[in-house]
Amino acid sequence: MVNIIPTPLSEGARQAVKRLQAAGFNALWAGGCVRDLLMNRVPKDFDIATSAVPDQVERLFPGAVMVGKSFGVVRVKIQHHEYEVATFRKDQTYRDGRHPEGVVFTDEQTDAQRRDFTVNALFLDPLAGTVRDYVGGQADLAARLIRAVGRADDRFAEDHLRMLRAVRFAATLDFKLDPATTDAIRRHAPQIGKVSAERIQQELTRILLEAPQPGAAIELLQAVGLLPVIMPEISALRGQEQPPQFHPEGDVWTHTIMMLNAMRQPDLRLAYAVLLHDVGKPGTAKFVENRIRFDCHAGVGAAMAEEILKRLRLPNDDIKAIVFCIGNHMRFMDVRRMRKATLCRMVGAPTFATELELHRLDCAASHGDITNHAFLVEFQAARRAEPVLPRPWISGHDIMSLDIPSGPEIGRWKQRVYDAQLEGLVENREAALAWLRREIAAARR
Ligand code: ATP
Ligand code: MG
Repeated sequence: MVNIIPTPLSEGARQAVKRLQAAGFNALWAGGCVRDLLMNRVPKDFDIATSAVPDQVERLFPGAVMVGKSFGVVRVKIQHHEYEVATFRKDQTYRDGRHPEGVVFTDEQTDAQRRDFTVNALFLDPLAGTVRDYVGGQADLAARLIRAVGRADDRFAEDHLRMLRAVRFAATLDFKLDPATTDAIRRHAPQIGKVSAERIQQELTRILLEAPQPGAAIELLQAVGLLPVIMPEISALRGQEQPPQFHPEGDVWTHTIMMLNAMRQPDLRLAYAVLLHDVGKPGTAKFVENRIRFDCHAGVGAAMAEEILKRLRLPNDDIKAIVFCIGNHMRFMDVRRMRKATLCRMVGAPTFATELELHRLDCAASHGDITNHAFLVEFQAARRAEPVLPRPWISGHDIMSLDIPSGPEIGRWKQRVYDAQLEGLVENREAALAWLRREIAAARR
């Protein structure tokens, strides 16, 4: 008997099964929810597998929505919760390395065979409290193994995305990949390039955000040969030496992996900023006076990151923010020498929280000196009482009225007088105008 702690979501899923069984059909919970329950985790959704065909499911659940009649999937609603009810099926030939040409409806045993990994191929009868295991999934759960159902080579040849899913499940559940499954992934890894960028990105993003050790997951992607296909620019960080006085931890790859592992509940922007922050280093590495230098690596890296993230189809506003964080990340080394106005603008940037954490991780995973981080935290705290960025007292019109011709010079004066305002060099608008007149006159002499 499986002990199921009832929640509103699981109760609806139990009712759905009850209704199907009462009508004479076989109906079970299937896949991820069973795996999660057996691991004492709370499932985030419940999928139901049944012998009823879509039309029969639809008749039993008023308001049901066909989401893929040919695949046998119907979405039903029970007390505000939604569940996918799928007819037991067998996939027909896969043509494009991702999608079957069609399905035929079968029984539960055959349905288990089409699923990707043994731990994802378990069924549970929530009314009887019994597990139905046709693939040795319970033993693999106990051994914490991700193992392909059936012949791994066949399964990855059918659907190449499963390779990335294997790494994702291993990483997020903290399981190992079964050796035969690993070998099959190695053989099929080049084919991951045929999968759509969106699906690759979804899996990679889940790996980065949900794995307890995202750096270890990136190492696994490299070890099985997937990373060189999906992000060769990151594979290229391996063996890229750096000055040991700043980077006692080792090469750029090691540094990046350490930072990824040290992230604390990252969001998407931080995770990709960390992964890509030093991507410009291999291309800019130069020996100068016996010391390796990476001049402009932040800017070069930002441009590379933009290309990589566009290729992976991340949302545009996220790309912009991540690219900005990467392009700016070396400026954090200078914060204690910066003018107050520059600092104000830095901490006022919408990306600042991400940048600050990126910087902290960067230092913690190298020389360990986080005094600049501490300085910025303090600076920010001191400024909390003040408005984030006060309104400028002087407008472009004011500057034009001082006989500055329209053009880029207006912007430059506006910036200077705003800096003077932020730094407290002037107390109010009148003083700012007076300051501006003096400075303009001095510049004209
Ligand atoms: P999670 O939702 O946490 O990612 P899950 O196991 O529920 O994990 P889903 O992608 O929601 O994963 O898929 C539900 C079930 O469908 C899986 O448990 C698996 O049995 C099956 N499945 C999903 N994708 C595939 C696939 N590409 N190949 C074979 N079976 C799959
Ligand atoms: Mg799921």
